[in-house]
Amino acid sequence: MRQASFDEQPENTSWKLRGTGDSALGPTREQGLQRLLAFMPNAGKAYQNHRNSDFGIGKHIHVSMLSPYLRHRMIDEAEVLQTVLRHHSHNAAFKFIQEVFWRSYWKGWLEHRNLLWPEYQRQLPMCLQRVQESKHSNENYERALAGQTDVGLFNDWCAELEQTGYLHNHARMWFASIWIFTLRLPWELGADYFVRHLIDGDPASNTLGWRWVAGLHTAGKTYLATPKNIRTCAALRLGASTDQQLGLHRLATHTFNLPEKLPEQVLQKTPIAWPAPENAKTGCAPGKRGRRALLLTEEDLTWRPAQTPAGCVAMSPSPRSALAPSSPLVRGFVDAALSDALQRQQHGWSDTLPTVAPKALDETALIDWLVEQGMDEVICAYQPMGPARLRVEALREPLAAKGIGLQLQMRDYDRLVWPHASKGFFQLGMRIPDFLDVMSLARGA
Ligand SMILES: Cc1cc2nc3c(=O)[nH]c(=O)nc-3n(C[C@H](O)[C@H](O)[C@H](O)COP(=O)(O)OP(=O)(O)OC[C@H]3O[C@@H](n4cnc5c(N)ncnc54)[C@H](O)[C@@H]3O)c2cc1C
Repeated sequence: MRQASFDEQPENTSWKLRGTGDSALGPTREQGLQRLLAFMPNAGKAYQNHRNSDFGIGKHIHVSMLSPYLRHRMIDEAEVLQTVLRHHSHNAAFKFIQEVFWRSYWKGWLEHRNLLWPEYQRQLPMCLQRVQESKHSNENYERALAGQTDVGLFNDWCAELEQTGYLHNHARMWFASIWIFTLRLPWELGADYFVRHLIDGDPASNTLGWRWVAGLHTAGKTYLATPKNIRTCAALRLGASTDQQLGLHRLATHTFNLPEKLPEQVLQKTPIAWPAPENAKTGCAPGKRGRRALLLTEEDLTWRPAQTPAGCVAMSPSPRSALAPSSPLVRGFVDAALSDALQRQQHGWSDTLPTVAPKALDETALIDWLVEQGMDEVICAYQPMGPARLRVEALREPLAAKGIGLQLQMRDYDRLVWPHASKGFFQLGMRIPDFLDVMSLARGA
């Protein structure tokens, strides 16, 4: 495995003074906010010009590394946009703003096809089985997972991902392209490897990012990683290493069309069942005392209802994959982020403080806690498609059996943006000025 490039310093080391550097991704909202503020000087033209460069581990100074915080909504899109527009005009920061909306696009797009992710998960074990049935494919797969392929640079990315839980966007694109078109492995298993190791691993951005590279999002539009592009955009990372040392001479020179294995009906648009808006003040259901608990999940660790809840409880982290557990780094981050969110519930309410459960709980313990605390309603942020959504939906019946209602409320941001995420990004992207306007964030060029 080629590790040396990790230790090579870029020629220009002034990044250390300017950017966020790569200090480890801390699992608290406070650390997310610090990273957001530290990145602000770089979110304008510098981002536009340099965001595609992968400098390597510890040197991702031209991108924000905010994805773990946005993924779990430890900070939310509206606050990121608000902060960036306090530092830059829309014109100067348009690229960064657009990338934030890419996240919203993928989230909304998947929401419009809410059978896709469960079906992808259902097919995963069969996909693995097919690979394991062929000695050659299985060896290829095992070597890719171990970061021991003939493409040294690919192995470096595996090592970086496992060590840090993060990869630069361009590295993700190159990695996925090499996985599919050079190593000829199924995209499904690559997406699964990513989601278990990326701290920001997300059912929408990850599954659809892989499908985009594979040419399945925009039919036939595949993404090919080329030595020339990698050399240009990862120059500082690669140093003086030759194509042979990096394995770049082995990269596929062309892509091919992959068959769509998901059935037609899961790709069809399905209507979103819009729940109550985020600030809806909801009265107590007939026959209830109105003891309401806020339920937190890893999908949204900052949303708060309009009325102070009587209690607050968090659901334990959800397994991200049907095949294997998430990496210890991912589990550690999510565990700590949930604890941080619970702790934060003990502050900041204008009236009485809610009773807060001591730690994140699995389903049985969670229901027991709600019963012990005499709660008769649970209120929760809308759960986008993914494992936590399925678990929260499955709670409805056992909660009802205990006389406890479950109510979901959706953030205004999602209500605003998602209706425009059902087609291509272009249709959503051209509305960004309107979105900012509605959010009262529009600022002159
Ligand atoms: C194959 C593949 C898999 C991916 N898997 C994930 C994933 O599991 N989770 C995830 O959050 N992103 C994923 N992405 C998108 C993107 O690579 C990451 O969001 C980005 O690299 C995060 O780094 P950053 O915070 O430094 O980004 P910045 O460049 O600083 O961008 C700011 C924010 O905008 C959003 N963003 C930026 N680029 C994209 C993009 N292309 N798609 C969606 N949102 C974007 C992120 O929330 C990011 O934090 C994937 C991309 C590809 C090609």
